[in-house]
Amino acid sequence: MGTAGECAAQLKKTYAKEIQAIETKLAYTPARIARITHLFTLLKDRTIEKIEKSARIPAESKMILFAKVSQTELVLPPNDDEMPGCGHTTAIGPSTDIANFDGQVTACIGFMANLDRASDADILVSMGHEIAHSIDPCALESEFAKFAKPDAAPFPSEATYPDVVSCLRGGPKGAPCQNSNLHCNTEKGIADKCNEYSSGVEGDATAKAAGLKECQDYVKLTPSCPWGSNPKKSLADASSARVDPEPVSQIRESFSDFVGAEVAGTILEEQVRSGKLRGQDRLDALIGIAADFASLHGRCEDGNSNDVHQPGKLRINQNFFSSASFANAICGKNPTPASLPGGPQKCSAF
Ligand SMILES: [Zn+2]
Repeated sequence: MGTAGECAAQLKKTYAKEIQAIETKLAYTPARIARITHLFTLLKDRTIEKIEKSARIPAESKMILFAKVSQTELVLPPNDDEMPGCGHTTAIGPSTDIANFDGQVTACIGFMANLDRASDADILVSMGHEIAHSIDPCALESEFAKFAKPDAAPFPSEATYPDVVSCLRGGPKGAPCQNSNLHCNTEKGIADKCNEYSSGVEGDATAKAAGLKECQDYVKLTPSCPWGSNPKKSLADASSARVDPEPVSQIRESFSDFVGAEVAGTILEEQVRSGKLRGQDRLDALIGIAADFASLHGRCEDGNSNDVHQPGKLRINQNFFSSASFANAICGKNPTPASLPGGPQKCSAF
């Protein structure tokens, strides 16, 4: 390394905090924060409205869903101590992620820096997905697991969403994980996960055995969460997630794709009706959404992978286009994507 390079590296190290503060200020501009906050509020209010009006969701489940959506908030900029690698430039470049950490929807610095090039439709679908994570089957089971006895049955998420969970899975009744569009966890994946967890527990053999039992109890209460182990997974390569040795449950991600598309879809339908979104804009919106979702998790693969998300093409064709609102907003009435024989089936969440 030359002297100038050494000097730059030294300055970066000395003034790391100051540089982070400047990067944050440049990315999280007042105009971007105002735009994303407006879209977030639209989505959150519409999600609550859809739950309230739903004839499908049982009344006792509605209260839980209201509480979970109400406490969901947008965190801008994130606290980098809590979300390491999200708030500023990391060794592998700025993170473009947006994620829901237990009700805290966090837009990383790269997401904000790209915001001026993203359409409202793309942001609505991405953030709709993140808000839906607050009420996805895994989130409901995890909430219940906080106080349930170990031998209790898991939270009945299939009954909360009677038409959507089985519809998205598309498997035969009674054996929804076989010949399904979506993977479920496997016994081997669960065993690997809990063995890995217990081996990390500090202490003697008794402490490790207690850790193993604790993991097994928790996994039983949360069957819709993805459970498996992949020690080779690399944080620097998002595509490495797709090569998990065992399939894991994908319902959490597919549910959030679908419900996000349902909520964003009704907002986009209104934009089509008012003339705000028309002609080429609708195609541009779809291309932006497809590029985002496909570049993150599995480009143009035709088949499923072992990632928690299906590959992008399946997410678009199966999860987004199963929403009548989304399909109508983007393509007009009764569209059938050419790449799917017969097109996706329509599911109903609310
Ligand atoms: Zn997700």
